Amino acid sequence: MRGGEMWARLLGVERTVVEAAGFEEDGDQDEVLVAHVRPGRGERQRCPECRRRCPKYDKGEGRRRWRTLDLGTVRAYLEADAPRVRCRKHGVIVAAVPWARHGAWHTRPFDDTVAWLAVATSKSAVRTLMRVAWRTVGSIVTRVCADADAVTDRFEGLRRIGIDEISFRRGRKYLTVVVDHDTGLLVWAAEGRDAKTLGRFFAALGPERCALITHVSADSADWIARAVKKACPDAVRCADPFHVVKWATEALDEVRRQFWRAQRKSGETRSKGRGRRDSTGTALRLRDGRYALWKNPENLTVKQQATLDWIQKTHPRLYRAWLLKEGLRYVFKIKGREGKLTLRRWLSWAQRCRIPEFVELGRKIRRHLPQIYAALDNGLSNALIESANTKIRLITRIAYGFKDPAALIALAMLTLGGYRPALPGR
Ligand SMILES: [Zn+2]
Repeated sequence: MRGGEMWARLLGVERTVVEAAGFEEDGDQDEVLVAHVRPGRGERQRCPECRRRCPKYDKGEGRRRWRTLDLGTVRAYLEADAPRVRCRKHGVIVAAVPWARHGAWHTRPFDDTVAWLAVATSKSAVRTLMRVAWRTVGSIVTRVCADADAVTDRFEGLRRIGIDEISFRRGRKYLTVVVDHDTGLLVWAAEGRDAKTLGRFFAALGPERCALITHVSADSADWIARAVKKACPDAVRCADPFHVVKWATEALDEVRRQFWRAQRKSGETRSKGRGRRDSTGTALRLRDGRYALWKNPENLTVKQQATLDWIQKTHPRLYRAWLLKEGLRYVFKIKGREGKLTLRRWLSWAQRCRIPEFVELGRKIRRHLPQIYAALDNGLSNALIESANTKIRLITRIAYGFKDPAALIALAMLTLGGYRPALPGR
């Protein structure tokens, strides 16, 4: 094997000629490995947009470097000319190179490894291992996702969908997301929460595929109902079990806060400085009891189970509120005819429970009964959507620090969209 071929194999680049490679000083950094390369035969003077072969325009900004995967422990770069070509359709543009995506300062193997790590490991692991800023990770996942989008048909076989809005940037911005009820996969996401944003999803889906949508679940937002009615007039509109259970969780939390506030008023606090006070004693247990009450009982830790047992003995009213929340969750677990019967029993229980928050919740559920029955009749599962929702919310927190919401959407699509990025060379 010739030296150039060996270098190309080691660097993981294809259709690329390695002219020379060696160590070079790189500013204040240690010595780095620089491989001088050029596009292989047939790869030269191509437009990055349409791949058409074009006449050369000029030398561009001369030679430039692309960061690539470390070789062992040594930082490595590819260096090459970056001439511009004149495309009939896309004008004067920097010619495509086989080792990197257009406009990128990192090679494809580098991009793909970062995207794989962003999905599979923690934020700090990616940053430390790859020696890149988190914002750079954002640009990379955006590029990798765009490539995947170009070859994947996410709307194939879409019949039953769930539509939801998810807040990010500490509740100041929103995403509209569409999830497939049958696979639990995220199929579409965009910034914004209004009928116009959702209209873009239906436009992308196209009229023929809109007509194939049989069920749409969503929370009770008006703008969703309007957009769905316009695009899929024949689809059955269902309540989203996830949201109905969330209403109950919120009512339960309000009841818990009332007990907590009462305990604080009775003096169970201590100064935290600057006029703020921390809960103590029973108030503290009620504050920390939030997760014990909120989580599904099958997921409770030993300590949270103990807290729940304590609430049962000391705050029977709060415990009853918890039972009401769990009762409603059970309705969506069993679904169907039995689910509807159980829901009717639950409604009369809520009516008589003398906890104002749950009496009110009962009224709200009666107002949305047709959509809730539709969800129960059609066996829409809460579990898949709930798990997708929880994961998207987690991603919005991990993505905090990305400059562009497109990077958050890309990370969500790569993680939950059913096409995880592959590691290069596997
Ligand atoms: Zn072109």
